[in-house]
Amino acid sequence: MTKTLRVLVIDDNKSDRALVIRELRREFSQVQVQEILDASDFEQAIANGNFDAVVTDYELGWSNGLEVLRTVKADFPGCPVVMFTNTGTEEIAVEALKSGLDDYVLKASSRYIRIPAAIRTALERIAIQQRAALLEIRLQRLLNQIKVGIFRSQLDGTILEANPAFLELLGAESLAQVNELNLLGAGNGYNQLADLQPPQQQEREVRLYKNGTRFWALLTTTLNTIEGVTVVDGLLEDITERKEAELQLQQLNVTLETRVWERTAQLENANQELEAFAYSISHDLRTPLRVIQGYAQILLKALGNSLEADKLTYLQRIAANAEQLDILIEDLLTYSRLSQGEINVEPVPLSQVLTEVLAELEPEISKRQAQIEIEKVLPIVQANPLILLQVLTNLLSNAVKFVAEGVQPQVRVWAEQREERIRLWIEDNGIGIAPDKQQQIFRPFTRLHGREEYPGTGIGLAIVSKGIERIRGQVGVESQLGQGSRFWIELPAVMESL
Ligand code: ADP
Repeated sequence: MTKTLRVLVIDDNKSDRALVIRELRREFSQVQVQEILDASDFEQAIANGNFDAVVTDYELGWSNGLEVLRTVKADFPGCPVVMFTNTGTEEIAVEALKSGLDDYVLKASSRYIRIPAAIRTALERIAIQQRAALLEIRLQRLLNQIKVGIFRSQLDGTILEANPAFLELLGAESLAQVNELNLLGAGNGYNQLADLQPPQQQEREVRLYKNGTRFWALLTTTLNTIEGVTVVDGLLEDITERKEAELQLQQLNVTLETRVWERTAQLENANQELEAFAYSISHDLRTPLRVIQGYAQILLKALGNSLEADKLTYLQRIAANAEQLDILIEDLLTYSRLSQGEINVEPVPLSQVLTEVLAELEPEISKRQAQIEIEKVLPIVQANPLILLQVLTNLLSNAVKFVAEGVQPQVRVWAEQREERIRLWIEDNGIGIAPDKQQQIFRPFTRLHGREEYPGTGIGLAIVSKGIERIRGQVGVESQLGQGSRFWIELPAVMESL
């Protein structure tokens, strides 16, 4: 729905008024005209104020166009006034425009047509001005409320304008004070700003003063050119809290790092001492043990036949236990040697290591009549040959050992390429391992069976796990109780052929 346009038409000449009204009606679909004939009509209209635009003649019997214009604009600055006359001079026109006249039309028959267009343009312009004023008010309100300081300065750091938050941040009463005390600090990188090209932006964390106390601020500056003059538009934000938290965190990190480092060093030290201790004990135990073993053998040989049965059994037990202890010490020494010293890795052909493993396990294999099937062509891996030999010897020895009585051990070994790694599988038809026990068997001394059933020290898989860890590989097992086991190790593949 279009709004009705209410127009005051002020002219002493009836036919001139009629011409204006005709043009207005032609242009605006809904127009309401009030004709003003004298001073009292005009006064009344101004008092009522119910009009949106004014068209006035310059020459009036009771006043003149300039007076009308000033009266209207005084009370209704947003109301367009269009003047038309045949007597007005250029000076009058200039004077009238200065007083806020929206348009000026000469009184000639061809010109009447311009009046409605002049009103329309003036109305539109006023609407735009009003919207701009409203925006300006809203912007000002925003600038006043915002906690971030906003300012514009010269290149030398002299602040030209700023919002209240800016003054508040610096604890200043006025811009003059900011400039006088140089609160933003002209030294704050302003000189570097000159090197920038508009509209380049710069962000700096600076330390400023507020009432003598230092605080951290984020200063964001943009170089702009406004009407040919280079200025700096800036934002100033108090970041003290964030900065302090950051500093605290940094401090904490440093302390934490030092503490972790100290602790690690202590632990490593303790570990090394413990390992050295375990090693020397194992080593020292060996000598007396060898003596016991030696004498037991001598006694067995010398007295074996003459001893009574139970005494012979005691002697045999001493010998058997001493031997078992010897194996345990040997295993412990292997394990603790694995934890010490540097370990070098090199390309190692898996088939070569497996051949050595088979040779080492030959007695057990023939004793159990085990069937071992090893894939013909096996890849080369990155490993330490000695450690890999220990690892595979333990895995294969277990595969042959943990098989139910009366069952022929059947072991299958094959490799699988997994991206840049090789996974070697050792599958047996043994007694299997319950899933909930599969983690713990890799810890030292964990055994799931009695020694009578299956001999062993419980250190084999610990050697496997430690050894694999030292050559940066991985180990795992897939198994179900009673359904055989599949152990695997994974190591980096060596691509080039040796
Ligand atoms: P050991 O062989 O000296 O007993 P290990 O550390 O080699 O010690 O093995 C720990 C335990 O894990 C074994 O006692 C056994 O119960 C279980 N285990 C290891 N390998 C197998 C396997 N291939 N099949 C079934 N059980 C196994």
